[in-house]
Amino acid sequence: MFQMATRPLTPQALGLACSRVPPARRVRTAIRLAAGSSDGFQYMQLDLPPPLNSNIRKAEFIKSSTRVADCPPDKLPEFALIGRSNVGKSSLINSLTRNDKLAKVSKEPGMTKLINHYLINDCWYLVDLPGYGFAKAGKSNREEWLTFTKDFFIQRENLVSVLLLVDSSVTPQQVDADCANWLAECEVPFCIVFTKIDNRKRDMPPNAQNVRAFKQLMAAEWEELPRCFETSSRTGAGRSELLGYVASLRELHIRATK
Ligand code: GDP
Repeated sequence: MFQMATRPLTPQALGLACSRVPPARRVRTAIRLAAGSSDGFQYMQLDLPPPLNSNIRKAEFIKSSTRVADCPPDKLPEFALIGRSNVGKSSLINSLTRNDKLAKVSKEPGMTKLINHYLINDCWYLVDLPGYGFAKAGKSNREEWLTFTKDFFIQRENLVSVLLLVDSSVTPQQVDADCANWLAECEVPFCIVFTKIDNRKRDMPPNAQNVRAFKQLMAAEWEELPRCFETSSRTGAGRSELLGYVASLRELHIRATK
């Protein structure tokens, strides 16, 4: 466990930190609304402001950085995407920004550890963090990824939330649940974005079943689940819900930093 000492706006201050059971020391201060959900899971309830300006009018690639120190100045709110290699991160960036050429969509899982910053509407950043693949990667690779992303979480004071991407076309992967747990340990606010909701794979359970099974895997350890979105970069499903959520969080962040 490490300290988020450098970040004045802690996830707790924003009411976004999630807690796992058993809660050794519960710190979160999320404002609760009436609990309840249609799928039977308990979700963390947040009192979010209405989403203003959720449309993306302009999106431009700013830079790739190999070190956190080289990232653009941390003056604007930012949202970082992480997930296993091939989860559909580049495709989601392109779908959210409606620009097929913005992020490179690769067939081969990339090995380069780059932090890519995209400036949206001149006022916030979408950040593409390196993909992980703990199952296949060696121990040293895994340690390297953890250190690399941890540095990012500690140093970027403007990080509002992480979007953790999970592939809905495959059965639950422990590595994704581990990543969610690790984010919670780092006290990084995050939501889960299921990707490829349109992509039914042969010999695999239906996507809805995979989504439910992943939530079940998390619910075994979590008292309340973070916000979840089901998306497809092919059909645009979930796009406006996700952009609305991001806009609400930006608004919350702006109010909290005023
Ligand atoms: P990244 O490595 O996480 O950036 O993943 P990519 O965006 O490069 O996508 C990996 C593969 O999944 C590519 O072949 C994409 O065409 C495919 N893919 C990504 N998103 C979707 C989606 O929503 N639906 C379907 N059917 N395929 C997708």
